[in-house]
Amino acid sequence: MDLTEIDSFDISADHLRKVVALTGAGISAESGVPTFRGEGGMWRQHRPEELATPQAFASNPQMVWEWYLYRRQIIAQSNPNAGHDALVELEKVLKDRFILITQNVDGLHRRAGHKNPIELHGNIFLNRCNSCSERYPDDTLDFDKLPPLCLNCQGQIRPDVVWFGEGLNHVTIEDAFLHSQQATLFLSIGTSAVVHPAAALPVVAKDSGALLVEINPDRTPITSLADAVFTDSSAQVLPDLVNKIKQIETKSKN
Ligand code: NAD
Ligand code: ZN
Repeated sequence: MDLTEIDSFDISADHLRKVVALTGAGISAESGVPTFRGEGGMWRQHRPEELATPQAFASNPQMVWEWYLYRRQIIAQSNPNAGHDALVELEKVLKDRFILITQNVDGLHRRAGHKNPIELHGNIFLNRCNSCSERYPDDTLDFDKLPPLCLNCQGQIRPDVVWFGEGLNHVTIEDAFLHSQQATLFLSIGTSAVVHPAAALPVVAKDSGALLVEINPDRTPITSLADAVFTDSSAQVLPDLVNKIKQIETKSKN
């Protein structure tokens, strides 16, 4: 696949009937939130794949919590970037013809002003009991002694995110697949496209007739499937791409 320039990128109003974007850790990289597979992914000699698992929590819940609190702190100190902002702009232009699906747990899409992103993997600032699933807001928990314990059942409280090897919420993932099947334009942004089932969404969209666009400085398993590939960072590409979409949308209305 040749690399695409925004100016020569060929899309029409027809492609804007339903636009779906899937974002991964890469869109937050320029906000200072490390990706799992890039530099800064390691923590105290541990790979994220060894920490973000039910097995790690079962054997060392305190260490897993310390890692999550460390990540929370980085996220709390960071802000949405031009990529997040451009997707908010896209929602304003296309309204309910735009669906945002994210694998990120950082909540930066919401903080940028996106109303209702489909958060496939949960949110790092939410907590639930590992035994009875009761949810706990932060201000009801004491993080001095880790892990915090459930008031109902004394079970261990964990971050309300989806770990490697765990299933996603059925309704959420079915929703994501349905939207991807209906997409006329699908944007795969800053995701290594290896974590399933999210990685299947661009493939499903392409198989169902969508124009598939990838924004990622590195090659991924879906690069060869994509109709257009932008290799600049998402904070650089998305504002230009959204401007282009806006122009097409305005023209089609006149
Ligand atoms: P990943 O770490 O596997 O891959 C990140 C991808 O982003 C890579 O392909 C990389 O080339 C690309 N990238 C890096 N900088 C970029 C930039 N500036 N612009 C565009 N692309 C860029 O992340 P993933 O695919 O999201 O999957 C890993 C899992 O880790 C997900 O399930 C996610 O929940 C979780 N995760 C979330 C966060 C977060 O919430 N911010 C951070 C790390 C990991
Ligand atoms: Zn409980």
